[in-house]
Amino acid sequence: NTFAEIDLGEALNLNIRRCKYVKPTPVQRYTIPISLAGRDLMACAQTGSGKTAAFCFPIISGIMRGQAVAVQRPHGFRTVFPLALILSPTRELSCQIHMETRKFAYQTGVKVVVVYGGAPINQQLRELERGVDILVATPGRLVDLLERAKVSLQMIRYLALDEADRMLDMGFEPQIRKIVEQTDMPPPGANGRQTMLFSATFPREIQRLASDFLSNYIFLTV
Ligand code: AMP
Repeated sequence: NTFAEIDLGEALNLNIRRCKYVKPTPVQRYTIPISLAGRDLMACAQTGSGKTAAFCFPIISGIMRGQAVAVQRPHGFRTVFPLALILSPTRELSCQIHMETRKFAYQTGVKVVVVYGGAPINQQLRELERGVDILVATPGRLVDLLERAKVSLQMIRYLALDEADRMLDMGFEPQIRKIVEQTDMPPPGANGRQTMLFSATFPREIQRLASDFLSNYIFLTV
């Protein structure tokens, strides 16, 4: 019933202690074991419920344990291959997720980068070129980067969609489908992706996304 009892890897458990997270919130208590077990997940959870940690802890932990491994690429090749993707509807939310994830990735060797629209792309490109394991992104900017072949989603092992209902309300469904499609073709020998879908509500459109993007998933309402 405390984070100390969940083995997320030494460096991450240490960061959790440093941040003074002692007890998991309900959404964390139910989702983290499911994600650590490798299952897909759809969770109905509200803002403020602690869902950021619920998806970023298993992702950081999995990458640390080498369940996702970066491909070697020729020197100078300018496409980056993140291992995890966290999609969220707005710049504000993406930046919040980035800050929280970076805090917990501290000294784990896991690199976190955020990209979002409405800001110059060049600085984001420079960040990406320094390497990225976990990419936090808004859908529009990510599609732009994919079209410019700056990012490849071929190696994505973990996909988290946060506030999925809000992303659909904002009209991002075509972008989301385009993005997820590109995570569907891992190279031979690579693991397929594990997907976590978070939404405050569960209307028909979200149910459709869940059945299209998740396989054999566990559904939770918190
Ligand atoms: P979120 O719903 O992910 O935006 O989290 C809401 C707030 O709760 C954030 O400020 C988190 O840093 C904090 N938080 C999340 N999980 C825990 C926890 N297990 N213990 C203490 N604070 C937490």
